[in-house]
Amino acid sequence: MALIQNPDVRRALAERLRYYNELGIYDFYQRERKVSEASTAVEDPEVPSTPQPEQREEMSPRKSVAVAKTVEESFEVPTPKPEQQATDPVAALKLIREDLGDCTRCKLHKQGRKQIVFGVGNPQAELMFVGEGPGADEDQQGEPFVGRAGQLLNNMIKAMGIRREDVYIANVVKCRPPGNRTPERDECDTCSPFLMRQIAVIKPKVVVALGAVAAKNLLAINAPMSELRGRFYDFMPAGARSSDPTWQGAKLAVTYHPAFLLRDPRQKGKAWKDLQMVMKYLGLKPPAKTD
Ligand code: SF4
Repeated sequence: MALIQNPDVRRALAERLRYYNELGIYDFYQRERKVSEASTAVEDPEVPSTPQPEQREEMSPRKSVAVAKTVEESFEVPTPKPEQQATDPVAALKLIREDLGDCTRCKLHKQGRKQIVFGVGNPQAELMFVGEGPGADEDQQGEPFVGRAGQLLNNMIKAMGIRREDVYIANVVKCRPPGNRTPERDECDTCSPFLMRQIAVIKPKVVVALGAVAAKNLLAINAPMSELRGRFYDFMPAGARSSDPTWQGAKLAVTYHPAFLLRDPRQKGKAWKDLQMVMKYLGLKPPAKTD
């Protein structure tokens, strides 16, 4: 059977896998194919080894088999993530934080950050909020959502009938982008695997993406907020084990970032609708009014 023979391609593949491992991504999945398709692709002697233009679609499964086989032959069993050895989520999050270390994986490490802002809250939270990245106050205090936007988020959480300590809060990137600019694609791609690992450890019932950057990075969908809001998505963080019997993923909802709501308070009504959808799913009731 034809495998990847080209040593440059094999080397490039090995480099790419090493790169993903450094980012904390250890599991790779190949879409399952029917047995009949697999046996045709692997064993059928009638299938020519050089794909013809009109056969490209039919030949693609064969390429997948070749890649998977090369990976098996070239590498050891993937290293388990450190947190998989932990017996509880507190210890697991600690191990992820240790793995992150004094991170220099993306250029944000040398653009004026004071400290890494890892995340805060209940390690077994049913509800998790994910923002874009730390601002000046967060960078100063080492905790996400502590400035004015954080105050508004606290009020949003309170209006849902819960406390900030009940939820877990994190960001797509853990270092402050200079001048509070939007984190760039490469920065999000480099940092977000750690967020995915945090979510996989916490196993929330619902993740709320605050703003378009969080939504697009979690869902890998490029769409405007008007299209992203107003519904639940089934969400399983990249690299998480879908075979985990205790958790089959979270529901993900998208709403406006509190910083945006500070700039345009007219949108608070829409954000409240998003949160009400989450409350209904979690069985939360707003606190009773006291006169
Ligand atoms: S933003 Fe994330 S990946 Fe980049 S340096 Fe900070 S912790 Fe590392």
